[in-house]
Amino acid sequence: MPPPVTAALEMPAAGALRAFLDQLIGAHRGSVPDLARPAASGAAATGRVALVGAGPGDPELLTLRAARLLSRAEVLVLDHLVSEGVLALVNPAAERIYVGKESGHHTVPQEEINQLLVRLAREGRQVVRLKGGDPFIFGRGGEELEELLAAGIPFEVVPGITAACGAGAYAGIPLTHRDYAQSVVFATGHRRAGESALDWTALARPHQTAVIYMGVGMLQSHCEAMIRHGRGADTPAALVENGTLPSQRVVTGTLATLPEIAAAAGIHPPALLIIGEVVGLAARLTWFAGASASGSLTA
Ligand code: SAH
Repeated sequence: MPPPVTAALEMPAAGALRAFLDQLIGAHRGSVPDLARPAASGAAATGRVALVGAGPGDPELLTLRAARLLSRAEVLVLDHLVSEGVLALVNPAAERIYVGKESGHHTVPQEEINQLLVRLAREGRQVVRLKGGDPFIFGRGGEELEELLAAGIPFEVVPGITAACGAGAYAGIPLTHRDYAQSVVFATGHRRAGESALDWTALARPHQTAVIYMGVGMLQSHCEAMIRHGRGADTPAALVENGTLPSQRVVTGTLATLPEIAAAAGIHPPALLIIGEVVGLAARLTWFAGASASGSLTA
């Protein structure tokens, strides 16, 4: 087997990336087609909200549309898990409002975030609601849109690369593979009080990759549940911490060994748990050896 070939990704400095984007999208600035559904007739709203996915961290994984909307945002309502590299592309004149959950020091209840978006749009402002990864994958994007809809505020949604796709790619773990996994399932390991437990029987199906978001805190019990529901204790499993960022770390093991390996390595959120035979490919397909530029998530 040839040894893995890894290389530091050449990452442009924030200024260079901004200049590149200016060149690429600058010609269209001010003429971004308005994809949003129009405000309900009679509604006072003149502003609008773009619900934008920031991707997993590497700013070059933003969509062009996201980059363009960020560069002309008037106000940015921001979650945790948006990387500094992405924030460097935001219109410097934009007001930034942090509502990040899990940041430990500042928690805004979802209902207040919803109201904030409505108020800002009613003031006539161009609001970018920026979320890590994809706004519709464990991002409560749907809840916020329902509120905007009820208030008659026009909105649009810009998808982002979800952590599973970003971390899988940068860790050399193809989430599906004809030989090993014909399906992939995303689940959240974080439980709201009183909510029913995950459907472990479905998650533990053979020939399937299971990706568990927010799963670090309960790693041991997740691995045990997979084994209890039929997955072999020797099934490969990985944690990808800070996926796609220069600080990315990947630890691999099996359902039996990963909790101890992760504890020894001191893996912390944000990290993604990937379970299935495809994890076994990481040793050969690994290619991302970090990057020269610095980067971190605003956790
Ligand atoms: N909407 C986001 C997910 C929000 S839930 C998306 O589509 O990616 C937050 C969880 O996502 C984290 O606890 C972690 O499990 C995962 N996550 C987000 N960014 C990550 C990253 N760069 N590396 C690894 N996991 C990440």
